Amino acid sequence: MRLSRYYIPTLKEDPADAEVVSHKLLMRAGMIRKLTSGIYNYLPLGLRSINKVARIVREEMDRAGAMEVSMPMVQPADLWQETGRWDYYGKELLRLKDRHGRDYCLGPTHEEVITDLVRGEIKSYKQLPINLYQVQTKFRDEIRPRFGLMRGREFIMKDAYSFDRDEAGAETSYWAMFEAYKAAFSRIGLRFKPVQADSGAIGGDFSHEFMVLADTGEDTIASCKSCQFGANLEKAKVAVPQGECLCNAPCPPIEQVETPDRHTVDEVCAFLGITADTLIKTLLFVVDGNPVAALVRGDREVNDVKLRNIVGGNEIELADEALVRKLTNAPVGFAGPVGLAEGVPVYADAELCLATDWVAGANGADTHVRHLSLGRDCKIEKFADLRVIEPTDPCPECGSEIEFTKGIEVGHVFKLGLKYSKKMEATFLDENGKTQYMVMGCYGIGVSRIVASAIEQNNDEAGCCFPPSIAPFEAVLISLGGKDEAVDAKAAELYEQLRVLGVDACFDDRKERPGVKFAEADLIGYPMQLVLGGKGLASGIVEAKDRKTGEKIELPINGFAEAFT
Ligand code: ATP
Ligand code: MG
Ligand code: MG
Ligand code: MG
Repeated sequence: MRLSRYYIPTLKEDPADAEVVSHKLLMRAGMIRKLTSGIYNYLPLGLRSINKVARIVREEMDRAGAMEVSMPMVQPADLWQETGRWDYYGKELLRLKDRHGRDYCLGPTHEEVITDLVRGEIKSYKQLPINLYQVQTKFRDEIRPRFGLMRGREFIMKDAYSFDRDEAGAETSYWAMFEAYKAAFSRIGLRFKPVQADSGAIGGDFSHEFMVLADTGEDTIASCKSCQFGANLEKAKVAVPQGECLCNAPCPPIEQVETPDRHTVDEVCAFLGITADTLIKTLLFVVDGNPVAALVRGDREVNDVKLRNIVGGNEIELADEALVRKLTNAPVGFAGPVGLAEGVPVYADAELCLATDWVAGANGADTHVRHLSLGRDCKIEKFADLRVIEPTDPCPECGSEIEFTKGIEVGHVFKLGLKYSKKMEATFLDENGKTQYMVMGCYGIGVSRIVASAIEQNNDEAGCCFPPSIAPFEAVLISLGGKDEAVDAKAAELYEQLRVLGVDACFDDRKERPGVKFAEADLIGYPMQLVLGGKGLASGIVEAKDRKTGEKIELPINGFAEAFT
Protein backbone atom coordinates (compact mmCIF):
# COMPACT_ATOMS: atom_id res chain seq x y z
CA MET A 1 0.00 0.00 0.00
CA ARG A 2 1.54 3.28 -1.08
CA LEU A 3 0.71 6.07 1.33
CA SER A 4 0.78 8.60 -1.52
CA ARG A 5 -2.49 7.01 -2.62
CA TYR A 6 -3.93 6.18 0.75
CA TYR A 7 -6.62 7.97 2.74
CA ILE A 8 -5.19 8.91 6.14
CA PRO A 9 -6.54 12.29 7.21
CA THR A 10 -4.36 12.92 10.25
CA LEU A 11 -4.98 15.81 12.64
CA LYS A 12 -2.40 18.00 14.38
CA GLU A 13 -4.61 18.84 17.35
CA ASP A 14 -6.66 16.75 19.75
CA PRO A 15 -10.38 16.99 18.95
CA ALA A 16 -12.21 19.06 21.55
CA ASP A 17 -14.69 16.35 22.54
CA ALA A 18 -12.09 13.62 23.07
CA GLU A 19 -11.45 12.88 26.74
CA VAL A 20 -9.47 9.68 26.67
CA VAL A 21 -6.23 9.00 24.86
CA SER A 22 -7.57 6.30 22.54
CA HIS A 23 -10.30 8.61 21.30
CA LYS A 24 -7.78 11.40 20.67
CA LEU A 25 -5.31 9.16 18.90
CA LEU A 26 -7.86 7.28 16.79
CA MET A 27 -9.06 10.65 15.52
CA ARG A 28 -5.62 12.17 15.09
CA ALA A 29 -4.21 9.12 13.35
CA GLY A 30 -7.01 9.32 10.80
CA MET A 31 -8.51 5.98 11.83
CA ILE A 32 -12.05 7.04 12.69
CA ARG A 33 -14.36 9.99 12.13
CA LYS A 34 -17.50 10.82 14.03
CA LEU A 35 -20.71 10.91 12.04
CA THR A 36 -22.90 11.81 14.99
CA SER A 37 -22.99 11.09 18.71
CA GLY A 38 -21.65 7.58 19.36
CA ILE A 39 -21.63 6.71 15.65
CA TYR A 40 -18.35 6.55 13.76
CA ASN A 41 -16.95 5.99 10.30
CA TYR A 42 -14.10 3.53 10.28
CA LEU A 43 -11.42 4.82 7.92
CA PRO A 44 -8.98 2.51 6.06
CA LEU A 45 -6.42 2.28 8.88
CA GLY A 46 -9.03 1.93 11.61
CA LEU A 47 -10.88 -0.73 9.70
CA ARG A 48 -7.69 -2.72 9.18
CA SER A 49 -7.17 -2.87 12.95
CA ILE A 50 -10.80 -3.78 13.60
CA ASN A 51 -10.63 -6.51 10.97
CA LYS A 52 -7.48 -7.91 12.54
CA VAL A 53 -9.18 -8.12 15.92
CA ALA A 54 -12.18 -9.77 14.29
CA ARG A 55 -9.95 -12.25 12.50
CA ILE A 56 -8.24 -13.38 15.69
CA VAL A 57 -11.57 -13.66 17.44
CA ARG A 58 -13.01 -15.70 14.56
CA GLU A 59 -10.02 -18.03 14.57
CA GLU A 60 -10.39 -18.69 18.28
CA MET A 61 -14.16 -19.17 17.98
CA ASP A 62 -13.67 -21.63 15.11
CA ARG A 63 -10.96 -23.44 17.04
CA ALA A 64 -13.39 -23.84 19.95
CA GLY A 65 -15.91 -25.41 17.59
CA ALA A 66 -18.28 -22.46 17.22
CA MET A 67 -19.77 -21.81 13.78
CA GLU A 68 -20.09 -18.43 12.17
CA VAL A 69 -23.48 -17.18 11.05
CA SER A 70 -24.77 -13.73 10.30
CA MET A 71 -28.05 -12.53 11.70
CA PRO A 72 -30.01 -9.46 10.67
CA MET A 73 -29.50 -6.20 12.47
CA VAL A 74 -33.18 -5.28 12.17
CA GLN A 75 -35.28 -7.47 14.42
CA PRO A 76 -39.06 -7.79 14.61
CA ALA A 77 -40.72 -6.68 17.83
CA ASP A 78 -42.75 -9.85 18.21
CA LEU A 79 -39.67 -11.89 19.13
CA TRP A 80 -38.83 -9.37 21.83
CA GLN A 81 -42.42 -9.45 23.01
CA GLU A 82 -42.16 -13.21 23.41
CA THR A 83 -39.39 -12.82 25.95
CA GLY A 84 -40.84 -9.71 27.54
CA ARG A 85 -37.79 -7.67 26.66
CA TRP A 86 -39.69 -5.36 24.31
CA ASP A 87 -41.11 -3.67 27.39
CA TYR A 88 -38.26 -4.44 29.62
CA TYR A 89 -35.15 -3.43 27.73
CA GLY A 90 -35.79 0.26 28.00
CA LYS A 91 -34.39 3.10 26.00
CA GLU A 92 -31.18 1.44 24.93
CA LEU A 93 -33.33 -0.39 22.41
CA LEU A 94 -33.76 1.72 19.30
CA ARG A 95 -37.23 1.06 17.97
CA LEU A 96 -38.52 1.71 14.49
CA LYS A 97 -41.57 1.10 12.35
CA ASP A 98 -41.84 -0.03 8.76
CA ARG A 99 -44.25 1.43 6.19
CA HIS A 100 -47.00 -0.88 7.43
CA GLY A 101 -46.62 0.37 10.96
CA ARG A 102 -45.02 -2.85 12.21
CA ASP A 103 -42.54 -2.54 15.07
CA TYR A 104 -38.87 -3.40 14.84
CA CYS A 105 -35.70 -2.70 16.75
CA LEU A 106 -32.05 -2.43 15.87
CA GLY A 107 -30.36 -5.40 17.51
CA PRO A 108 -28.39 -4.56 20.65
CA THR A 109 -27.86 -8.33 21.10
CA HIS A 110 -29.31 -11.45 19.51
CA GLU A 111 -30.68 -13.90 22.09
CA GLU A 112 -34.18 -13.72 20.65
CA VAL A 113 -33.10 -14.08 17.04
CA ILE A 114 -30.71 -16.96 17.69
CA THR A 115 -33.24 -18.82 19.82
CA ASP A 116 -35.79 -18.37 17.07
CA LEU A 117 -33.23 -19.62 14.57
CA VAL A 118 -32.63 -22.94 16.31
CA ARG A 119 -36.05 -23.73 17.78
CA GLY A 120 -37.97 -25.98 15.52
CA GLU A 121 -34.81 -26.90 13.62
CA ILE A 122 -33.07 -28.71 16.43
CA LYS A 123 -35.28 -31.60 17.38
CA SER A 124 -33.06 -34.21 18.96
CA TYR A 125 -30.39 -34.40 21.62
CA LYS A 126 -28.20 -35.82 18.86
CA GLN A 127 -28.02 -32.37 17.28
CA LEU A 128 -26.63 -30.81 20.47
CA PRO A 129 -24.43 -29.14 21.54
CA ILE A 130 -24.01 -26.32 19.07
CA ASN A 131 -22.45 -22.91 19.35
CA LEU A 132 -23.20 -20.22 16.76
CA TYR A 133 -21.51 -16.86 16.55
CA GLN A 134 -21.37 -13.75 14.44
CA VAL A 135 -19.28 -10.62 14.16
CA GLN A 136 -21.73 -7.84 13.62
CA THR A 137 -22.70 -4.24 14.08
CA LYS A 138 -24.83 -3.69 17.15
CA PHE A 139 -26.87 -0.67 18.10
CA ARG A 140 -27.48 0.42 21.66
CA ASP A 141 -28.86 3.85 22.33
CA GLU A 142 -26.40 4.37 25.19
CA ILE A 143 -27.40 7.07 27.63
CA ARG A 144 -23.88 8.51 27.58
CA PRO A 145 -22.02 7.57 24.42
CA ARG A 146 -18.43 8.68 24.87
CA PHE A 147 -14.77 7.90 24.57
CA GLY A 148 -14.90 7.23 20.84
CA LEU A 149 -14.95 3.52 20.05
CA MET A 150 -15.03 2.66 23.73
CA ARG A 151 -18.71 3.40 24.26
CA GLY A 152 -20.37 3.93 20.95
CA ARG A 153 -24.03 3.62 20.13
CA GLU A 154 -23.14 1.69 16.99
CA PHE A 155 -20.28 -0.75 17.52
CA ILE A 156 -18.95 -4.10 16.41
CA MET A 157 -19.45 -7.11 18.62
CA LYS A 158 -18.73 -10.78 18.36
CA ASP A 159 -21.63 -12.58 19.96
CA ALA A 160 -21.82 -16.34 20.39
CA TYR A 161 -24.64 -18.48 21.73
CA SER A 162 -24.35 -22.05 22.92
CA PHE A 163 -27.13 -24.63 23.14
CA ASP A 164 -26.69 -27.72 25.25
CA ARG A 165 -28.80 -30.63 26.35
CA ASP A 166 -28.06 -30.28 30.05
CA GLU A 167 -26.32 -28.24 32.73
CA ALA A 168 -23.12 -30.22 32.52
CA GLY A 169 -22.93 -29.63 28.79
CA ALA A 170 -23.65 -25.93 29.24
CA GLU A 171 -20.79 -25.69 31.73
CA THR A 172 -18.43 -27.36 29.30
CA SER A 173 -19.49 -24.90 26.61
CA TYR A 174 -19.02 -22.04 29.04
CA TRP A 175 -15.47 -22.97 29.96
CA ALA A 176 -14.58 -23.63 26.32
CA MET A 177 -15.57 -20.04 25.55
CA PHE A 178 -13.71 -18.81 28.62
CA GLU A 179 -10.53 -20.45 27.31
CA ALA A 180 -11.12 -19.18 23.78
CA TYR A 181 -11.41 -15.65 25.17
CA LYS A 182 -8.14 -16.01 27.05
CA ALA A 183 -6.48 -17.23 23.88
CA ALA A 184 -7.89 -14.40 21.75
CA PHE A 185 -7.00 -11.62 24.17
CA SER A 186 -3.51 -13.04 24.68
CA ARG A 187 -2.92 -13.20 20.94
CA ILE A 188 -4.11 -9.63 20.54
CA GLY A 189 -1.54 -8.66 23.13
CA LEU A 190 -3.83 -7.14 25.75
CA ARG A 191 -3.04 -7.11 29.46
CA PHE A 192 -6.31 -8.45 30.80
CA LYS A 193 -7.93 -10.20 33.70
CA PRO A 194 -11.06 -12.33 33.82
CA VAL A 195 -13.15 -11.27 36.80
CA GLN A 196 -16.38 -12.44 38.34
CA ALA A 197 -19.07 -10.31 36.84
CA ASP A 198 -21.36 -11.20 39.63
CA SER A 199 -19.55 -10.64 42.86
CA GLY A 200 -21.13 -13.60 44.51
CA ALA A 201 -24.84 -13.60 45.10
CA ILE A 202 -26.11 -15.94 42.45
CA GLY A 203 -24.30 -17.97 39.84
CA GLY A 204 -21.01 -16.22 40.38
CA ASP A 205 -19.08 -18.97 38.70
CA PHE A 206 -20.90 -18.54 35.48
CA SER A 207 -20.54 -14.94 34.52
CA HIS A 208 -17.11 -13.55 33.89
CA GLU A 209 -16.05 -10.30 32.37
CA PHE A 210 -12.71 -9.92 30.68
CA MET A 211 -11.21 -6.67 31.78
CA VAL A 212 -8.45 -4.77 30.07
CA LEU A 213 -6.47 -3.06 32.79
CA ALA A 214 -6.39 0.67 32.11
CA ASP A 215 -6.80 3.80 34.23
CA THR A 216 -9.43 5.16 31.87
CA GLY A 217 -11.67 2.13 32.39
CA GLU A 218 -15.22 2.75 33.54
CA ASP A 219 -15.26 -0.32 35.75
CA THR A 220 -13.51 -0.85 39.07
CA ILE A 221 -12.02 -4.24 39.65
CA ALA A 222 -11.05 -5.79 42.94
CA SER A 223 -8.15 -8.21 42.48
CA CYS A 224 -6.41 -10.31 45.05
CA LYS A 225 -2.68 -9.75 45.30
CA SER A 226 -2.04 -13.45 46.00
CA CYS A 227 -4.68 -15.58 44.34
CA GLN A 228 -6.64 -15.40 41.09
CA PHE A 229 -9.70 -13.76 42.65
CA GLY A 230 -11.09 -10.78 40.79
CA ALA A 231 -14.51 -9.15 40.77
CA ASN A 232 -16.14 -6.21 39.05
CA LEU A 233 -17.34 -3.72 41.63
CA GLU A 234 -19.76 -2.18 39.15
CA LYS A 235 -22.00 -4.95 40.31
CA ALA A 236 -21.48 -4.14 43.91
CA LYS A 237 -22.35 -0.49 43.94
CA VAL A 238 -24.43 1.47 41.54
CA ALA A 239 -25.45 5.05 42.09
CA VAL A 240 -27.72 7.31 40.13
CA PRO A 241 -26.61 10.92 40.12
CA GLN A 242 -28.39 12.92 42.71
CA GLY A 243 -31.07 15.29 41.61
CA GLU A 244 -31.58 13.66 38.29
CA CYS A 245 -34.32 11.13 38.00
CA LEU A 246 -33.66 9.02 34.99
CA CYS A 247 -36.97 7.28 34.88
CA ASN A 248 -39.28 8.54 32.27
CA ALA A 249 -42.23 9.10 34.50
CA PRO A 250 -43.01 12.44 36.05
CA CYS A 251 -41.61 12.18 39.53
CA PRO A 252 -40.00 14.35 42.15
CA PRO A 253 -36.24 14.86 42.08
CA ILE A 254 -34.16 12.04 43.42
CA GLU A 255 -33.11 12.30 46.98
CA GLN A 256 -30.37 10.37 48.68
CA VAL A 257 -31.92 7.54 50.64
CA GLU A 258 -29.78 5.53 52.96
CA THR A 259 -31.14 2.14 53.89
CA PRO A 260 -29.70 -0.35 56.28
CA ASP A 261 -28.20 -3.50 54.90
CA ARG A 262 -30.86 -5.67 56.41
CA HIS A 263 -34.46 -4.80 56.88
CA THR A 264 -37.03 -6.25 59.18
CA VAL A 265 -40.59 -6.00 58.08
CA ASP A 266 -41.17 -3.41 60.79
CA GLU A 267 -38.30 -1.29 59.57
CA VAL A 268 -39.54 -1.48 56.02
CA CYS A 269 -43.01 -0.49 57.05
CA ALA A 270 -41.78 2.35 59.20
CA PHE A 271 -39.59 3.53 56.38
CA LEU A 272 -42.41 3.46 53.89
CA GLY A 273 -45.11 4.60 56.24
CA ILE A 274 -47.39 1.73 55.28
CA THR A 275 -49.00 -1.05 57.21
CA ALA A 276 -47.48 -4.48 57.43
CA ASP A 277 -50.55 -5.78 55.73
CA THR A 278 -49.78 -3.92 52.52
CA LEU A 279 -46.20 -4.96 52.61
CA ILE A 280 -46.83 -8.54 53.41
CA LYS A 281 -49.00 -8.91 50.41
CA THR A 282 -46.26 -8.39 48.01
CA LEU A 283 -42.70 -7.70 47.36
CA LEU A 284 -41.81 -7.19 43.80
CA PHE A 285 -38.37 -7.63 42.50
CA VAL A 286 -36.52 -8.52 39.39
CA VAL A 287 -34.70 -11.75 38.96
CA ASP A 288 -33.02 -13.00 35.84
CA GLY A 289 -34.43 -10.14 33.93
CA ASN A 290 -38.02 -10.91 34.81
CA PRO A 291 -40.29 -9.01 37.10
CA VAL A 292 -40.99 -11.51 39.82
CA ALA A 293 -43.64 -11.34 42.46
CA ALA A 294 -42.94 -13.15 45.67
CA LEU A 295 -45.26 -13.50 48.55
CA VAL A 296 -43.56 -12.77 51.80
CA ARG A 297 -44.80 -13.70 55.15
CA GLY A 298 -44.78 -11.03 57.79
CA ASP A 299 -42.44 -12.82 60.11
CA ARG A 300 -39.61 -12.88 57.66
CA GLU A 301 -36.69 -10.62 57.61
CA VAL A 302 -36.25 -8.98 54.28
CA ASN A 303 -32.70 -9.55 53.33
CA ASP A 304 -30.77 -11.13 50.56
CA VAL A 305 -30.58 -14.55 52.04
CA LYS A 306 -34.27 -14.66 52.57
CA LEU A 307 -34.87 -13.15 49.19
CA ARG A 308 -32.94 -15.96 47.59
CA ASN A 309 -35.01 -18.48 49.49
CA ILE A 310 -38.08 -16.78 48.25
CA VAL A 311 -36.85 -16.85 44.70
CA GLY A 312 -36.16 -20.51 45.03
CA GLY A 313 -39.38 -21.28 46.81
CA ASN A 314 -42.18 -19.13 45.57
CA GLU A 315 -41.02 -17.75 42.32
CA ILE A 316 -43.72 -16.63 39.98
CA GLU A 317 -42.50 -15.50 36.63
CA LEU A 318 -44.43 -12.63 35.24
CA ALA A 319 -43.62 -10.74 32.17
CA ASP A 320 -46.40 -8.27 32.16
CA GLU A 321 -47.11 -5.44 34.45
CA ALA A 322 -50.88 -5.67 34.29
CA LEU A 323 -50.76 -9.24 35.46
CA VAL A 324 -48.37 -8.37 38.22
CA ARG A 325 -50.68 -5.67 39.43
CA LYS A 326 -53.70 -7.89 39.22
CA LEU A 327 -52.06 -10.65 41.18
CA THR A 328 -50.56 -8.43 43.75
CA ASN A 329 -53.60 -6.24 43.97
CA ALA A 330 -51.46 -3.30 44.98
CA PRO A 331 -49.97 -0.30 43.27
CA VAL A 332 -46.45 -1.52 43.43
CA GLY A 333 -43.57 -0.61 41.20
CA PHE A 334 -40.20 -2.08 40.71
CA ALA A 335 -36.91 -0.86 39.45
CA GLY A 336 -33.30 -1.78 39.33
CA PRO A 337 -30.50 0.74 39.42
CA VAL A 338 -29.14 0.04 35.99
CA GLY A 339 -32.63 -0.26 34.68
CA LEU A 340 -33.47 2.98 36.36
CA ALA A 341 -30.60 4.59 34.60
CA GLU A 342 -31.39 3.01 31.33
CA GLY A 343 -35.10 3.30 31.22
CA VAL A 344 -36.69 0.23 32.72
CA PRO A 345 -40.21 1.23 33.69
CA VAL A 346 -40.59 2.84 37.04
CA TYR A 347 -44.17 3.38 37.93
CA ALA A 348 -44.79 6.89 39.00
CA ASP A 349 -48.01 6.05 40.72
CA ALA A 350 -46.44 3.28 42.73
CA GLU A 351 -46.75 3.49 46.45
CA LEU A 352 -43.83 1.26 46.90
CA CYS A 353 -40.74 1.08 44.77
CA LEU A 354 -38.53 -1.81 45.56
CA ALA A 355 -35.18 -1.67 43.96
CA THR A 356 -33.08 -4.72 43.74
CA ASP A 357 -29.49 -4.35 42.83
CA TRP A 358 -29.73 -6.05 39.54
CA VAL A 359 -27.45 -5.54 36.65
CA ALA A 360 -28.79 -5.80 33.18
CA GLY A 361 -25.87 -6.66 31.03
CA ALA A 362 -26.89 -5.81 27.60
CA ASN A 363 -26.97 -9.41 26.65
CA GLY A 364 -29.93 -9.19 28.90
CA ALA A 365 -28.58 -11.98 30.93
CA ASP A 366 -26.69 -10.80 33.92
CA THR A 367 -29.45 -9.91 36.26
CA HIS A 368 -29.26 -10.83 39.87
CA VAL A 369 -31.03 -10.14 43.04
CA ARG A 370 -28.50 -8.76 45.44
CA HIS A 371 -29.88 -6.41 47.91
CA LEU A 372 -33.10 -4.76 48.61
CA SER A 373 -33.18 -1.02 48.84
CA LEU A 374 -36.34 0.83 49.42
CA GLY A 375 -37.66 4.15 48.44
CA ARG A 376 -40.79 5.85 47.37
CA ASP A 377 -41.79 7.70 44.23
CA CYS A 378 -38.54 6.75 42.59
CA LYS A 379 -36.54 8.32 45.37
CA ILE A 380 -34.27 5.37 45.14
CA GLU A 381 -30.68 6.16 45.29
CA LYS A 382 -28.56 3.99 47.44
CA PHE A 383 -27.76 0.50 46.35
CA ALA A 384 -25.46 -1.83 48.11
CA ASP A 385 -24.33 -5.37 47.76
CA LEU A 386 -23.98 -8.02 50.36
CA ARG A 387 -20.42 -8.39 49.27
CA VAL A 388 -19.35 -4.83 48.83
CA ILE A 389 -15.61 -5.12 48.94
CA GLU A 390 -13.89 -2.31 50.72
CA PRO A 391 -10.18 -1.60 50.50
CA THR A 392 -9.79 -2.81 54.05
CA ASP A 393 -11.39 -6.23 53.42
CA PRO A 394 -9.76 -9.61 53.03
CA CYS A 395 -9.77 -11.33 49.80
CA PRO A 396 -12.98 -13.35 50.07
CA GLU A 397 -11.16 -16.42 48.74
CA CYS A 398 -7.81 -16.42 50.51
CA GLY A 399 -7.75 -13.51 52.91
CA SER A 400 -4.85 -11.70 51.26
CA GLU A 401 -4.78 -8.05 50.38
CA ILE A 402 -7.13 -6.72 47.72
CA GLU A 403 -6.03 -4.27 45.09
CA PHE A 404 -8.39 -1.91 43.24
CA THR A 405 -7.80 -1.04 39.61
CA LYS A 406 -9.75 0.37 36.70
CA GLY A 407 -10.75 -1.85 33.84
CA ILE A 408 -12.45 -1.83 30.46
CA GLU A 409 -14.89 -4.66 29.79
CA VAL A 410 -13.84 -6.20 26.48
CA GLY A 411 -15.62 -9.51 26.83
CA HIS A 412 -18.35 -11.18 28.78
CA VAL A 413 -19.25 -14.86 29.10
CA PHE A 414 -22.54 -15.77 30.63
CA LYS A 415 -24.50 -18.91 31.36
CA LEU A 416 -28.10 -18.15 30.50
CA GLY A 417 -29.64 -21.43 31.54
CA LEU A 418 -33.25 -21.80 30.44
CA LYS A 419 -34.14 -18.13 30.43
CA TYR A 420 -34.73 -17.81 26.70
CA SER A 421 -35.40 -21.41 25.81
CA LYS A 422 -38.34 -21.55 28.23
CA LYS A 423 -39.90 -18.34 27.06
CA MET A 424 -39.39 -19.16 23.41
CA GLU A 425 -40.04 -22.88 23.60
CA ALA A 426 -36.66 -24.01 22.37
CA THR A 427 -36.91 -27.70 23.11
CA PHE A 428 -35.55 -31.04 21.96
CA LEU A 429 -36.28 -34.67 22.62
CA ASP A 430 -33.86 -36.49 24.92
CA GLU A 431 -32.82 -40.18 24.73
CA ASN A 432 -36.07 -41.18 26.36
CA GLY A 433 -38.19 -39.20 23.96
CA LYS A 434 -38.90 -36.62 26.64
CA THR A 435 -39.16 -32.93 25.76
CA GLN A 436 -36.42 -30.83 27.36
CA TYR A 437 -35.45 -27.18 27.21
CA MET A 438 -32.08 -26.32 25.70
CA VAL A 439 -29.57 -24.91 28.17
CA MET A 440 -28.06 -21.74 26.75
CA GLY A 441 -25.04 -19.53 27.18
CA CYS A 442 -24.08 -16.24 25.55
CA TYR A 443 -20.66 -14.77 24.98
CA GLY A 444 -19.80 -11.26 23.78
CA ILE A 445 -16.60 -9.56 22.71
CA GLY A 446 -16.36 -5.84 21.99
CA VAL A 447 -14.41 -5.97 18.73
CA SER A 448 -14.29 -2.24 18.05
CA ARG A 449 -13.82 -1.46 21.76
CA ILE A 450 -10.71 -3.67 21.76
CA VAL A 451 -8.95 -1.37 19.29
CA ALA A 452 -9.53 1.54 21.68
CA SER A 453 -8.50 -0.56 24.69
CA ALA A 454 -5.27 -1.63 23.01
CA ILE A 455 -4.40 2.03 22.48
CA GLU A 456 -5.24 2.87 26.09
CA GLN A 457 -2.65 0.30 27.11
CA ASN A 458 -0.09 1.09 24.42
CA ASN A 459 0.66 4.72 23.74
CA ASP A 460 3.18 7.45 24.46
CA GLU A 461 3.39 11.20 23.90
CA ALA A 462 4.08 10.66 20.19
CA GLY A 463 1.04 8.46 19.56
CA CYS A 464 -0.12 4.84 19.37
CA CYS A 465 2.21 1.89 19.97
CA PHE A 466 0.03 -0.86 18.54
CA PRO A 467 0.70 -4.49 19.37
CA PRO A 468 1.77 -6.05 16.03
CA SER A 469 -1.22 -8.41 15.97
CA ILE A 470 -3.73 -5.61 15.44
CA ALA A 471 -1.65 -2.71 14.11
CA PRO A 472 -3.10 -1.26 10.89
CA PHE A 473 0.15 -2.34 9.24
CA GLU A 474 2.92 -4.20 11.03
CA ALA A 475 5.57 -2.05 9.41
CA VAL A 476 6.01 1.13 7.41
CA LEU A 477 8.83 1.51 4.92
CA ILE A 478 9.75 5.17 4.82
CA SER A 479 11.63 6.54 1.88
CA LEU A 480 13.56 9.73 2.63
CA GLY A 481 14.28 10.26 -1.05
CA GLY A 482 13.24 13.85 -1.33
CA LYS A 483 14.96 15.05 -4.48
CA ASP A 484 17.12 11.93 -4.62
CA GLU A 485 15.24 9.66 -7.00
CA ALA A 486 17.70 6.81 -6.51
CA VAL A 487 16.56 6.49 -2.88
CA ASP A 488 12.89 6.37 -3.85
CA ALA A 489 13.65 3.81 -6.55
CA LYS A 490 15.58 1.57 -4.13
CA ALA A 491 12.87 1.92 -1.48
CA ALA A 492 10.25 0.92 -4.05
CA GLU A 493 12.34 -2.12 -4.87
CA LEU A 494 12.59 -3.08 -1.19
CA TYR A 495 8.87 -2.56 -0.77
CA GLU A 496 8.24 -4.89 -3.66
CA GLN A 497 10.37 -7.52 -1.89
CA LEU A 498 8.27 -7.15 1.25
CA ARG A 499 5.08 -7.37 -0.77
CA VAL A 500 6.19 -10.58 -2.47
CA LEU A 501 7.00 -12.06 0.93
CA GLY A 502 3.55 -11.12 2.18
CA VAL A 503 4.93 -8.82 4.89
CA ASP A 504 2.14 -6.62 6.23
CA ALA A 505 3.81 -3.31 5.41
CA CYS A 506 2.88 -0.02 3.83
CA PHE A 507 5.18 2.26 1.90
CA ASP A 508 5.53 5.93 2.71
CA ASP A 509 6.48 7.16 -0.74
CA ARG A 510 5.05 10.65 -0.23
CA LYS A 511 6.94 13.79 -1.09
CA GLU A 512 6.86 14.99 2.50
CA ARG A 513 9.62 16.20 4.78
CA PRO A 514 11.29 13.49 6.91
CA GLY A 515 9.97 15.15 10.09
CA VAL A 516 6.39 14.86 8.87
CA LYS A 517 6.84 11.22 7.90
CA PHE A 518 8.42 10.26 11.22
CA ALA A 519 5.82 12.10 13.25
CA GLU A 520 2.96 10.43 11.40
CA ALA A 521 4.54 6.99 11.64
CA ASP A 522 4.90 7.52 15.39
CA LEU A 523 1.33 8.83 15.66
CA ILE A 524 -0.21 5.89 13.80
CA GLY A 525 2.01 3.49 15.70
CA TYR A 526 3.20 0.98 13.12
CA PRO A 527 5.23 -1.42 15.32
CA MET A 528 8.23 -1.27 12.96
CA GLN A 529 9.60 1.67 10.99
CA LEU A 530 11.99 0.81 8.16
CA VAL A 531 13.83 3.89 6.96
CA LEU A 532 15.89 4.35 3.81
CA GLY A 533 17.70 7.64 3.25
CA GLY A 534 20.55 8.90 1.07
CA LYS A 535 23.23 7.90 3.57
CA GLY A 536 21.72 4.49 4.06
CA LEU A 537 21.61 3.89 0.36
CA ALA A 538 25.29 4.85 0.11
CA SER A 539 26.29 2.54 2.96
CA GLY A 540 23.86 -0.25 2.05
CA ILE A 541 21.77 0.07 5.22
CA VAL A 542 18.07 0.29 6.10
CA GLU A 543 17.42 1.49 9.61
CA ALA A 544 14.74 -0.45 11.52
CA LYS A 545 13.15 1.19 14.56
CA ASP A 546 10.94 -0.58 17.08
CA ARG A 547 8.11 1.90 17.74
CA LYS A 548 7.50 0.77 21.28
CA THR A 549 11.05 0.53 22.62
CA GLY A 550 12.69 3.01 20.28
CA GLU A 551 15.41 0.42 19.70
CA LYS A 552 17.16 0.73 16.33
CA ILE A 553 18.94 -1.90 14.31
CA GLU A 554 20.50 -1.80 10.88
CA LEU A 555 19.45 -4.16 8.13
CA PRO A 556 21.63 -4.67 5.05
CA ILE A 557 20.03 -3.64 1.79
CA ASN A 558 21.61 -6.67 0.21
CA GLY A 559 19.71 -9.52 1.73
CA PHE A 560 17.00 -7.17 3.11
CA ALA A 561 14.26 -9.72 2.41
CA GLU A 562 16.00 -12.40 4.48
CA ALA A 563 15.35 -10.42 7.65
CA PHE A 564 11.61 -11.04 7.05
CA THR A 565 11.65 -14.71 6.25
P1 ATP B 1 -20.85 -2.13 29.42
O1 ATP B 1 -20.91 -2.64 30.84
O2 ATP B 1 -19.54 -1.54 29.06
O3 ATP B 1 -22.02 -1.26 29.07
P2 ATP B 1 -22.23 -4.44 28.58
O4 ATP B 1 -22.06 -5.29 29.80
O5 ATP B 1 -23.50 -3.71 28.42
O6 ATP B 1 -21.00 -3.42 28.47
P3 ATP B 1 -22.39 -6.82 26.96
O7 ATP B 1 -23.84 -6.88 26.78
O8 ATP B 1 -21.75 -7.73 27.94
O9 ATP B 1 -21.96 -5.30 27.27
O10 ATP B 1 -21.75 -6.94 25.50
C1 ATP B 1 -20.58 -7.65 25.17
C2 ATP B 1 -19.41 -6.74 24.90
O11 ATP B 1 -19.72 -5.72 23.95
C3 ATP B 1 -18.93 -5.98 26.12
O12 ATP B 1 -18.12 -6.79 26.92
C4 ATP B 1 -18.17 -4.82 25.49
O13 ATP B 1 -16.84 -5.21 25.19
C5 ATP B 1 -18.92 -4.58 24.20
N1 ATP B 1 -19.77 -3.38 24.31
C6 ATP B 1 -20.90 -3.24 25.03
N2 ATP B 1 -21.41 -2.01 24.90
C7 ATP B 1 -20.58 -1.35 24.06
C8 ATP B 1 -20.58 -0.02 23.53
N3 ATP B 1 -21.55 0.83 23.82
N4 ATP B 1 -19.57 0.34 22.69
C9 ATP B 1 -18.59 -0.53 22.37
N5 ATP B 1 -18.54 -1.80 22.84
C10 ATP B 1 -19.52 -2.20 23.68
MG1 MG C 1 -21.36 -7.22 29.95
MG1 MG D 1 -21.08 -4.55 31.62
MG1 MG E 1 -23.99 -1.73 28.65
